[in-house]
Amino acid sequence: MRTYMYDIEKFKEKLKSEVKQSRYEHSLSVMNFSVELAKYYGVDEEKARVAGLLHDCAKYKDTDKILQKAKEFDIIIDGDLNHTIKVLHALLGYYIARDEYGIEDEEVLLAIKNHALGRENMSDLEKIVFYADFAEPLRTYSMAEKLREFKYEGLTKAAYEAVNYNLCYLLEEGLYVHPQSLKTRNSLLLELKGE
Ligand code: FE
Ligand code: FE
Repeated sequence: MRTYMYDIEKFKEKLKSEVKQSRYEHSLSVMNFSVELAKYYGVDEEKARVAGLLHDCAKYKDTDKILQKAKEFDIIIDGDLNHTIKVLHALLGYYIARDEYGIEDEEVLLAIKNHALGRENMSDLEKIVFYADFAEPLRTYSMAEKLREFKYEGLTKAAYEAVNYNLCYLLEEGLYVHPQSLKTRNSLLLELKGE
């Protein structure tokens, strides 16, 4: 029998008790999609599994708890973050995965932390979770189906399409754009162009 580094069943149990049922199902779906992509692209499957499962581990059903925990970990909520407060759970997820789930792998922790805004020069694992979060099969908005068509087009392309989709959505809806989203998009663009 194969031994896994992580007790995934235990993680599932804890996660299930802390997030909404729909969020839990989304997490399983991101996990499965991340593993599928990791297999295809030769990325560590175990890391993809745990990062996919735990990417929303700090998106508590009790939203006050997100702010309260962020305070505990001294996360600074600046103007940009204050206007895009929905992404705070990603930054907090780094600490929750580390301290409450015992994840020590920095690559996994960064994939959790950067799943919402991305960052410049993302690793393959970060691109996988970033893209899977937008494109996993339970996502039903019409663009999700379109995004899934890029799954074999390379991780940079897939993540690039995901961030573009996100930016278009924010602009169309008249919502605040965190400058990091734009930096992420430009970084992926330059990577695609080989610059
Ligand atoms: Fe999230
Ligand atoms: Fe998510």
